[in-house]
Amino acid sequence: MTQALFLDDSYLKECDATILSANDKYIVLDRTIFYPKGGGQPHDMGRIIRANDKFEVVYSGKFSGEISHEVDQSGLAPNDKVHCILDWDRRYRLMRSHTAAHTLASIMWKDTGALITGNQLEIDKVRFDFNLENFDRETFQGLIEKANRLFETDIPVRWYELPRDEALKMPGIVKMAGAFPPEITRLRIVEIEGVDRQADGGTHVKNLKEVGKIEFLKAENKGKNNRRVYFRLVP
Ligand SMILES: [Zn+2]
Repeated sequence: MTQALFLDDSYLKECDATILSANDKYIVLDRTIFYPKGGGQPHDMGRIIRANDKFEVVYSGKFSGEISHEVDQSGLAPNDKVHCILDWDRRYRLMRSHTAAHTLASIMWKDTGALITGNQLEIDKVRFDFNLENFDRETFQGLIEKANRLFETDIPVRWYELPRDEALKMPGIVKMAGAFPPEITRLRIVEIEGVDRQADGGTHVKNLKEVGKIEFLKAENKGKNNRRVYFRLVP
């Protein structure tokens, strides 16, 4: 089983690892810094290095509970000792966007009662879907401004595990992620101090200041009560 190092330390940019299995271009490591696509967060990219050989990581996903890395060429073999290097610029943007999304979702929930029914981080924007009858652009602009004021403060973000029952008692703990399968007995909580607590497996920045600033991009009506909005980090 792979040790998912990013769950504890989302700032790890490199690590040493041993290959557990290699199926052509699909590699499983004993430990990894590469986040596998899931929970609305895209996969990490980067590089796996063995001595003088470089393999580009083009995709990372979870298959049958295992984190599998797709590299650009075959040649890696079980028991190979490798060094992993993350495409940090890509990941750090996603961390900032992810923490921004939690902050905004929390403000939205508190101000309007709307829950996010679908969300997707992309490298250049974030998508939110939610159900709300009376909603307009100005309302959303106002929520973004509130979030931006929080991003000017020094509010810490931390993550930890809690027993499922205890976690699910917290109001608003599942605002974005949907249902958790019953076999999960401990939930990972991402807490933005005084702002939000959310069950989540993604990678985040450790202080709201790191987010920077976000801006509204566009809104779409996807049917009665069904709204879709996009926002992004200010470049
Ligand atoms: Zn999340």
